[in-house]
Amino acid sequence: MTPDVRDRAGRPARVEAGQTDDCPIPATSWDRALHLIGQADEVALACHVTPDGDALGSMLAVAFVLRSMGKRVVASFGDRQFAVPRLLRFLPGQDMLVPPDAYPAAPELMIVFDSSTFERLGVLGTNAAMARELVVVDHHPSNAGFGTLSLIDAQAAATAMLAEQLVYRLGGRLDRDIATCLYAGLVTDTGSFRYSSTTPAVHQMAARLVATGLRTDEIARELWDRSPFGYLKVLAGALDRVTLENGPAGGLVWTYVTRVDRAEHGLPYSELEGLIDIVRRTDEAEVAVVLKEDDQGDWQVSTRSKGSVDVAAVCTALGGGGHHNAAGYTSHDTAEETMAKFRHELRKVS
Ligand code: 5GP
Ligand code: MN
Repeated sequence: MTPDVRDRAGRPARVEAGQTDDCPIPATSWDRALHLIGQADEVALACHVTPDGDALGSMLAVAFVLRSMGKRVVASFGDRQFAVPRLLRFLPGQDMLVPPDAYPAAPELMIVFDSSTFERLGVLGTNAAMARELVVVDHHPSNAGFGTLSLIDAQAAATAMLAEQLVYRLGGRLDRDIATCLYAGLVTDTGSFRYSSTTPAVHQMAARLVATGLRTDEIARELWDRSPFGYLKVLAGALDRVTLENGPAGGLVWTYVTRVDRAEHGLPYSELEGLIDIVRRTDEAEVAVVLKEDDQGDWQVSTRSKGSVDVAAVCTALGGGGHHNAAGYTSHDTAEETMAKFRHELRKVS
């Protein structure tokens, strides 16, 4: 019996491999991508700075397929201090990664993943601007399409859903390595299938990936269930100074971690990714903010909403971007000034 699965619009959901619900990307765009890839000897891939599972996983999955097609593949992300975040080191395919200074200055064909702007590519933004063809594979609603070809679906729960389609369309077969990379993207961006973006198509994709024999328990443990001891100490400090205040749209809960706090416990910046998930659980708050000082001394601001506030609008106004309920930006101000500007923009959208 065929299950009666409906998409958001109430139409029967498509169940073919590699389809997202209502994918708005025209067939001509996919065809153009395949044509560009077919013609290229070398394909340069990139994802956003301090990559998360969706950015790095999507990029590496496509890298595997391109390599199996006989293409020369370079893959990177534009962090000044190039290092794969510890929690993503379990991903296969890292031998295909090169640091930004070994990246082609003006790639013939460049494909970028999970990045809504040139700025999100960090130092590789310059290379992207110089690329002859720039294909943008993304799911951020704020992405206006900054390349020569857009494969953008703002309804997709993860860029990994688009990467999976690209894998199939290139004639690639899901093996366990590719599936591990795509699964890391899917679970990261759906919060382990908890967020409202978790559609039937998300679960159908998960089923295809899990069927390759990947170890979902091991992946979950790598992503969420381990940290260096220093994280507990830094977390204790951050929670000790957490603040709950009245915001224009309900409570605002926020805290911060300086680079001095991290240095005291030998904690790399990328270990702070999960902190916002602890802070945002506060019942009394509609909006949660964590200010994380990076190694350059800038604040990387993570924001979350429970639904009634569009934090992407707030963050876009402050020079960043993201999704309705999860967004971010970079601030060069002090923590106090950063929060003052954030409150000001929050009032405007509430
Ligand atoms: P996170 O708080 O997990 O780092 O990021 C949440 C969301 O905001 C992600 O979808 C990410 O792409 C977006 N985001 C975070 N920082 C920035 C930023 O500096 N600029 C832009 N455009 N988006 C960001
Ligand atoms: Mn993503």
